[in-house]
Amino acid sequence: MTEREQLIAKFADLILESKNIVALTGAGMSTESGIPDFRSPGTGLWTKVDPDEFASIHSYVSSTSKNLKLMLEMGTTIFRAKPNKGHKALTQLQKMGKLKGVLTQNIDGLHSKARTKNVVELHGTANESKCLRCKRVYPITTLINQVLRGKNSPTCEECGGLLKPNAIFFGEPLESAVLRKADEMIADLELMIVLGSSLLVYPVAFYPHKAIAAGAKLAIINIQPTEMDHQAEVVIHDKIGNVLPQIIE
Ligand code: NAD
Repeated sequence: MTEREQLIAKFADLILESKNIVALTGAGMSTESGIPDFRSPGTGLWTKVDPDEFASIHSYVSSTSKNLKLMLEMGTTIFRAKPNKGHKALTQLQKMGKLKGVLTQNIDGLHSKARTKNVVELHGTANESKCLRCKRVYPITTLINQVLRGKNSPTCEECGGLLKPNAIFFGEPLESAVLRKADEMIADLELMIVLGSSLLVYPVAFYPHKAIAAGAKLAIINIQPTEMDHQAEVVIHDKIGNVLPQIIE
């Protein structure tokens, strides 16, 4: 067996021997669907835009129109994207009765489009918009239609507050109800599979630590090394689409 075949076999054995499995996915899960991640050298979004200028709640409120222009460009890529081999492999793992659910940092909705059930969107969703004042939630089309009609700052139909995409921006806390769901999902966990995350963004990057502290095992697929590689039972540095379907097969 080659070293790669041994890693794939070890990963598959971990899945076979675990009853309660949860996947934690990051932006690398969706790069093979054509959505850039944040930190990959050369292609990551942070190599093109300044995080303080884009996706921070402060800059959204102070320069709504400029931020929305950039976001709608990225949104077009997200709304056209289709689930890739990795998303579909997770759905298959769930149908086999192995995968309890997915905790995702992604806002693209591709796990649900791939028909994976029990998906917790820790950083919200690009498919909705939300009023910053009364917290009412609308489809994202409510915000987009106002922008397309020439409105610089889209507003809530109920209270007139500023509407923003219902994704977590830098400087915003994660929703407590969502965090509760995530904690419920990892109760009694036996194996956490981390896919396509640098594990640099907190509080999400705490989940692998929590899993290990509760006695679960960790398995990682990521092109680049992550902060948690040294704590994992198995780490494969490759594209998810190159290895996950093979592991599940
Ligand atoms: P990140 O950009 O920090 O890390 C992504 C990791 O995935 C990198 O380490 C990269 O090497 C790896 N990677 C890229 N393509 C891969 C592939 N095909 N197979 C395996 N690994 C691959 O992203 P992050 O740590 O997940 O989080 C950054 C934040 O970005 C998150 O909060 C998320 O909300 C947001 N984000 C979401 C999307 C999306 O919804 N698709 C896209 C960009 C950023």
